[in-house]
Amino acid sequence: MSDQLLERGGQLTLDIDPDRLLRRVADLARIGADPVTGGITREGFSTADREARAYLMAQARAAGLAPSVDAAGNIVVRAPGCGEAGDRQVLMMGSHLDTVVNGGRLDGAYGVLAALEVLQTLAHAGLDTVCEPVAVAFANEEGALFPQPFWGSMAVAGRLASLPREPTDHHGRPLREALQLAGGDLDALGSACWQAGSIAAYLELHVEQGPVLERSGSRIGVVEAITGRTVLTLEVRGTAGHSGTSPMEGRSDAMAAAARVVLAAENLAADRQLCRVATVGRLDPHPNTPNTIAGTVRLTVDLRDTDVWRMAGAEQVLRRMLRQIERSTGTEIEVVAETRSDPVSADLRLRAEIERSADGLGLAHEVLPSGAGHDAQVVADLAPIGMIFVPSLGGISHVPEEDSRPEDLVAGARVLLRTAVRVARGTVL
Ligand SMILES: [Zn+2]
Repeated sequence: MSDQLLERGGQLTLDIDPDRLLRRVADLARIGADPVTGGITREGFSTADREARAYLMAQARAAGLAPSVDAAGNIVVRAPGCGEAGDRQVLMMGSHLDTVVNGGRLDGAYGVLAALEVLQTLAHAGLDTVCEPVAVAFANEEGALFPQPFWGSMAVAGRLASLPREPTDHHGRPLREALQLAGGDLDALGSACWQAGSIAAYLELHVEQGPVLERSGSRIGVVEAITGRTVLTLEVRGTAGHSGTSPMEGRSDAMAAAARVVLAAENLAADRQLCRVATVGRLDPHPNTPNTIAGTVRLTVDLRDTDVWRMAGAEQVLRRMLRQIERSTGTEIEVVAETRSDPVSADLRLRAEIERSADGLGLAHEVLPSGAGHDAQVVADLAPIGMIFVPSLGGISHVPEEDSRPEDLVAGARVLLRTAVRVARGTVL
């Protein structure tokens, strides 16, 4: 296709097929749907997930594209005849098809179907590109059944080396068989890894999953960074005792201390603003009975920010607060486990290009952080990343009510198409 056809008065005339995109979103939403709640349960490598994968492959084939499955179970869709060894760099676009238990219809699925739509549009236009557009559905992003979230993107980035030899799901069932049923091969995971430099850029379109865009009225979100996350698992140890016969004086009540930790975490983010958000989402008291003073409480503190130094600072202050709580409650508080993922910045050139695409479509946009994790943060090991958000109705996600307006879903895919065209033609990076 010639440049004249593509750009008229500086505008792209190429367009996605909005009806086809929305039909596919609706089709996929039926797979794994609960007839009563409407919630969707498509845990990675479950039966419903396999059905969704088969749907994507069938749609890709019907569109004249060439889908394949790598050893990690990622579905990689290419234009026919592309992808021989030594070929061009790729422009990777995608997200994931799996969901949490009783989740929504758009988280992940929307990004995969939009990537397919853009690839199909580009392939049919016969556009000359410097890099090859490729659509990907990463396997098991949520880790709802097999507790290895970001499984597929980690394999692509070569980060699954330290895996247990035979990973299992929450019920002890081996991943090996489930992966095989999905077309993968546990013994060949290394082959799913992409070489550094083979991916020119990665673009992920996703629902915001938060209220920022809806509140401001922006149609498009341009992600500046995916927040880093520190999760500390704490054990508060006090002395269990009879709730009726133990005087208040001299108690060492693990529950009362844990309550102070909950408030300290809230104070850290809400009042002192040392990190963007801080949450105690889990509390396990023992013995957890009405008439016994808790002897121990386990709880998690989840700290998030887009700045690695702010995260470290917030954690340091939290640890100081824990020492004060120990002293004032006569308990011992130990950090028994800690996990950390660093914040990941989106590429500035891709950010500017997403803004330009939104401007070209007359869509109000704003820059915002992603508070949730995404495959993009893992692919960032290998390639510059860009993320596009569309507004979530009510700002909610991971629930059956998760939704976005159809016109926003279409607008997001159009921004992805425009950005993809310019990146694939080598004018951005
Ligand atoms: Zn997602």
